[in-house]
Amino acid sequence: MSNDRKPASRIAHAGETEIESLTDPLVAPIYQTTVYSYPDISAVDDVYEHREPGYIYSRYGMPNHRLLESAMAQLEGTQAGLATATGMSAISAVIFGTLSAGDRIVASNQVYGGTRNLLDQDVQRLGIEVTYVDARDPDQVRQALSEPANMLYVEGITNPTINVLDLAALGEIAREAGVYFVVDSTFATPIHAGPVDHGADIVIHSTTKFIAGHNDVSGGIVLGSEEILDPIRQVAIRFGGIGGPFDAWLVLRGLKTLALRMRQSSSNALKLAEALHGHRAVERVRYPGLGNHPQHQIAKRMLREGYGSMLSIDVRGGRQAVETVVQRLEMIRFVETLGGLGTTVVHPATTSHRSVDSAVKEELEISDGLLRFSIGIEEPEDLIEEVVTALDSVRLS
Ligand SMILES: *Cc1c(COP(=O)(O)O)cnc(C)c1O
Repeated sequence: MSNDRKPASRIAHAGETEIESLTDPLVAPIYQTTVYSYPDISAVDDVYEHREPGYIYSRYGMPNHRLLESAMAQLEGTQAGLATATGMSAISAVIFGTLSAGDRIVASNQVYGGTRNLLDQDVQRLGIEVTYVDARDPDQVRQALSEPANMLYVEGITNPTINVLDLAALGEIAREAGVYFVVDSTFATPIHAGPVDHGADIVIHSTTKFIAGHNDVSGGIVLGSEEILDPIRQVAIRFGGIGGPFDAWLVLRGLKTLALRMRQSSSNALKLAEALHGHRAVERVRYPGLGNHPQHQIAKRMLREGYGSMLSIDVRGGRQAVETVVQRLEMIRFVETLGGLGTTVVHPATTSHRSVDSAVKEELEISDGLLRFSIGIEEPEDLIEEVVTALDSVRLS
């Protein structure tokens, strides 16, 4: 820029230059810009018509999103991806990008609380019908899909009761019915499950959880074919739930260690599950790696590299007993999320399922004594010691 201009003019355009360097940055920089300038008007045509690669405006796509999307699409074995601001914006883009008023979703009754609220409060309000099924029972799903429907929506490992669904059977049923098969694979991560291998058309992750893995950024992603993603992307652009470049950069940085983290945390989870099994204060350990888990055989077929890092227990003595346990835990913090480096615990009955009425809670097996752990990468001995000590302090009458 010419030095004849006044300071105010010069600084208004500071930084609008390309960095000259024979060498490339090893890690992609954060493209902290909302817009991209065109050299001329014909470039506008080339970029809009996809004849040349190019970015336009951050909400339409940005380099840090593109890098995350292609890494995740490779991991899940899909053609394309769409990074969003949160898991919920991914889920809403999928539903509103593929369905219209008069359509019908058959959904698992064991889904993330926010998803349940979206289905109950917005999806139905806008004229899309929702039928809940117990997706552990493929016959129930087949029955529900014998009426006209457009989508089967499930989570492969369910929250908070850690059931494992037979995605292969469900994928087959969805294919026969000719509906989209959508799998929220947040709990399983691409390390432990590959929903596309079992017929999923669309895979969703809340990258806020294990993928970013450090409890410091929110994000979501939708994975599928270009054809399926196109209308979903258009809706995401219009609805606007697109995060910033630094968020995507953080998620991608977390992703690099996902395999290592999951290896350690799923191995920890299995050791903890075995240690808690049979403890006098524990009515039931819900972990798919245990031989007595109701879907252990299904889990062996559906999961790989271990059985995941989510583990729930039913503490004897109800709310008072879980209060004792939570207060006794020191390193393990009581927080309403999952998927971080450190082990955390949540009490679903008073948090995620607080507003769910008691009959539904009973049907979903969410008792006052249920505690859900997200296992981290600590040394297993320390984890076991801490949880066992806390449980030892429960007084049973
Ligand atoms: C957390 C979560 C979501 C929602 O993700 P946000 O990033 O909080 O919007 C969706 N599905 C599952 C299974 C989750 O755990």
